[in-house]
Amino acid sequence: DAVVYWMRMEDMRIYDNRALAQASVQALKDHVPLLVFFVLSPQDYAAHDRSPRRVDFTLRNLCVLKGSLAKLDIPLHVTTHASRRTLPSYVVSFLQSVNATRLFANIEYEVDELRRDITVCNLANEAGILPTLVHDKLIVEPGLLSTKQGKPYSVFSPFQRQWLAAINKNPNQYLAEAVSPSANPPTVRDHPILGKMFSSEVPSRVEGFQCLDKHQMAVIWPAGMDAAREMLRRFLRTKSRHTQSGLADPLGEGAETSEKKSRAMAYKDDRDRADRDSTSRLSPYLAAGVISSRECIRAALELVGATKVHTNRDTGIGMWIQEIAWRDFYTHVLAAFPRVSMGRPFQEKYADVQWETNPEHFEAWRTGRTGVPIVDAAIRQANTMGWMHNRARMVAAMYLTKDLMIDWRLGERVSLHAAIIDGDLASNNGGWQWSASTGTDPQPYFRIFNPYSQSEKADPNGDYIRTFVPELGTVFGPEIHNPPAKLADKLGYPRPLVDHKEARDRALRRYKNPGSK
Ligand code: FAD
Repeated sequence: DAVVYWMRMEDMRIYDNRALAQASVQALKDHVPLLVFFVLSPQDYAAHDRSPRRVDFTLRNLCVLKGSLAKLDIPLHVTTHASRRTLPSYVVSFLQSVNATRLFANIEYEVDELRRDITVCNLANEAGILPTLVHDKLIVEPGLLSTKQGKPYSVFSPFQRQWLAAINKNPNQYLAEAVSPSANPPTVRDHPILGKMFSSEVPSRVEGFQCLDKHQMAVIWPAGMDAAREMLRRFLRTKSRHTQSGLADPLGEGAETSEKKSRAMAYKDDRDRADRDSTSRLSPYLAAGVISSRECIRAALELVGATKVHTNRDTGIGMWIQEIAWRDFYTHVLAAFPRVSMGRPFQEKYADVQWETNPEHFEAWRTGRTGVPIVDAAIRQANTMGWMHNRARMVAAMYLTKDLMIDWRLGERVSLHAAIIDGDLASNNGGWQWSASTGTDPQPYFRIFNPYSQSEKADPNGDYIRTFVPELGTVFGPEIHNPPAKLADKLGYPRPLVDHKEARDRALRRYKNPGSK
């Protein structure tokens, strides 16, 4: 007999993992070994636009986990199953092959994943294996917070207020660390089936998801819980450098500093500066569940000696915790309004907005050659680092949807599919729909960023642009934000694809009367 914890792409950690903690307690109670199981599912990755970098990050994390679990005499069994449709029966036949009595997993809230897991639960029950699905991804689980009318929140501010109240009323329920898994008895290594799993290898790649820059990614985004914790420590305790590090190892930079001046404490003032290495860069680790959001909040509170969670905008820590609340919010929206994960706008009245079909413009955007330096720097940052600063994401997404008037769904798919390592369906969808004004943002559609003034605020000296757009590497002064045509031609930098004012007028027309040109 055995207890199995089924690890997925979003909960890749040993510590503070609720399903794993429960599985371990059960295994101890039943005096049976605990086994961790992971299925690589190429069809799922293709269907959900997983980027090769994200898949590679998964494999690298599995390698680290394999070693850490082995120290606890817990085998990690990694297999590949090609067909999405037959995945549930494949999982259950695996459970039967190891005589599993119990199955534990953390819930994934996307529609396809929920459907898959319901089928797995039904098949497992039929086979006499008791399944348990656990809430773990968020601080507050979907469904717990509702408006006075009993409806799910569709606006962030009131959601956040209730989110805070719930946590502060019962911090133990929401922030307590899940118990760490206990070691298996070493005799598990003599087990006829489980014993062999210790020497099996994690595949080095998944068919169709070749990560061409895997060594570079491994330097920028090292795998494993220790790396994630180091990233958190770096954010909370070390000082930001003044310019973007580009391809440098982010773990290596930034001197230890008094906590008063750390990135976290300066977050309130610095977070919108794309030229500064001022945010945590934890998104790849949170998206893959290499670190829990509970741990992030516990560490942030500890830094300032606070006992209550707050999102007070006066402090860096409060603002940062607010970002974790955004992460929860977008997953709550996804769970309550599943249409958003099916390519539908949250605000259905915008379903008929007329989009431009312009493959040349889209290609220019995708490759960072729009002729608007801040947009090109943003896209090229994603293409080189697999990650983009939040302000840069907003500017680039707004430019695609409002200036080029290209469908947000194309941007959503491409950003996940091609480049980013932190792809998370809920946050990405939320961010794209925010930028396209089709989402939960109560601000109306006429919020249209001027990319040039955004550039002046996010990158006042042009350091960010010069780092990622080498054609403009010799341009200093205000011209960097909108190079004159002659200068651009001389430097081999493209001219802007559209005139911002004309594009703005077009967007206003189309949003005002969805359906009209
Ligand atoms: P920090 O500023 O240090 O914030 C800490 C954590 O809070 C982040 O790691 C993230 O988990 C969460 N967070 C921060 N901002 C947001 C936000 N606006 N919405 C939801 N969660 C947030 N984030 C992703 O994790 N994956 C995505 O695929 C993704 N796609 C986006 C697409 C667009 C168009 C936009 C506008 C935003 C997107 N975001 C996405 C949100 C945000 O840009 C990133 O989470 C953030 O830039 C990550 O950097 P960081 O870890 O340094 O963030």
